[in-house]
Amino acid sequence: MKQIEWYVGEKKSFFQSKYDYYRKFNSQAIIIATVTSLFYFVSDCQLSGRISWETLFPRTIILLPLLIYLVLQKKVKDYRILVIATYLMIHGIMWCTIWATSYLPNREHANEGFIIMHLLFFAIGFSASFRASAIAHSLLMADILVSDLFNHYEHMDLILSLGIPCIIGVCAVQYTMGKVYLDQFVTRKKLEEALRYDPLTRVFNRNKLVDILEKDGTRLAFENQEETAFMIIDIDHFKKVNDTYGHEEGDRVLVHMAEVIKKCIRAVDLAIRWGGEEFIIIMPGCSLEHAKQKADRIRREVQFSNNQICTITVSIGISMYDGNDYFKAVSDADKAMYLAKEKGRNCVVCFEEGSEIEVR
Ligand code: GH3
Ligand code: MG
Ligand code: MG
Repeated sequence: MKQIEWYVGEKKSFFQSKYDYYRKFNSQAIIIATVTSLFYFVSDCQLSGRISWETLFPRTIILLPLLIYLVLQKKVKDYRILVIATYLMIHGIMWCTIWATSYLPNREHANEGFIIMHLLFFAIGFSASFRASAIAHSLLMADILVSDLFNHYEHMDLILSLGIPCIIGVCAVQYTMGKVYLDQFVTRKKLEEALRYDPLTRVFNRNKLVDILEKDGTRLAFENQEETAFMIIDIDHFKKVNDTYGHEEGDRVLVHMAEVIKKCIRAVDLAIRWGGEEFIIIMPGCSLEHAKQKADRIRREVQFSNNQICTITVSIGISMYDGNDYFKAVSDADKAMYLAKEKGRNCVVCFEEGSEIEVR
C-alpha cells in the first residue's frame, strides 16, 4: 500500500514538475498562436477580395478564452487543470478558425492551416503527459472530420494523408521527449536528495532548512501551526564511544540513534543532523507538554534499545518557537540541552525565559 502511495506521489510530482518547467513556454506558445490566428483576418480579406467583416467576430472572440486561460495560469497550480485548459484553448483556436473558414469563398488552404495546428499541438505537448497529448492531438482529426460536414474541404484526402502521419510523428517525438524529461527529473531528485540528506544517518541535514524557511531566511514557513517545538538531542560522552570502540563503531551508534529518532517522531516532524552527534527535531503543531513526552520517549528508547555496541544515553533540550527567528528556538533548546548536561546528563530540560525546569 505504501509503495503504491509513493508511486502515485512521485508520478504526480513528475507531471507537475514537467508542467512547471514548460509553463512559461506554454503560455507564450498559446499567445503567439492566438495572435497569429487574429492576423488570419488579413488572409480572409485577401481570399474574399474585400474587408471580410463576417470573419472578424470568429477571429477575435478567441481573445475571451485567452483571457480566461491567462487568469487560470496565474491562479491555478495543479497541472491537471492547466493541461485541460491548455488543450481546450487550442481546440478553441481550432474551432474559431473553422468558424471563420465557413464564411470564406473557398477552403483550398485549409490543409496548410491544419499543419500549423499540428505544430501547435507539438509545442504544447511537451508540458503534458504522453497520454493526454496523444488523446488531445487525435481529437484534432475529429474536429476536422466534424467540420468537414458543413465546411466541405476541397482536399479532404490530402488533409487526412498529411494529418495522420503528423499526429503519429508528433506523438512519437513527445514520447521520446517524455523519457528525456524523466531522466532529467530522476537526476534532479537524486541531487536534491544528496543535498538535503545526511549520507551517514539518512536524516535531513541543515540544507533542509531552505525548504521550511520563509524567503527572509529566518521565520518558519509552516502554515496554520500555532505551536512548534524544537528539540536538540546530544549523545552523552560520545567521544568515549569513539575512543573505546573506534570511529567506525561510533558511526554505527549514530546510525542506530537516527533510527530510534525516526521511530519516535511523526511524519510531519523533521529530524535534522545538526552537527557531529547532535540532532534537532522540529515539531510543527506540537505543544510543550507533547514535546516533553516525546523527548522522554526518545531518551528511554536510546538508553534501553540495543545498538550492538554499547549503552548510550542522550541529553535533550526543548524550546518553543515564538514565530520570529527560528535560530532563537535553536539557541534556547541548546541552552536547555547544556543545562541537561550540567544536571548529570541522560535527562530532558525545557527552556523557559529566565528559568529552566527539568522534567525527567
Ligand atoms: P558530552 O556528553 O558533553 O556531549 O560529551 P561528548 O563526548 O559527547 O561531547 P563532545 O562534543 O566533546 O564530543 C563529540 C564527539 O563526537 C567528538 C567527535 O569525535 C565525535 N563525532 C562527531 N562527528 C562524528 C561522526 O560523524 N562519527 C563519529 N564516529 N564520531 C563523531
Ligand atoms: Mg555529546
Ligand atoms: Mg555535541
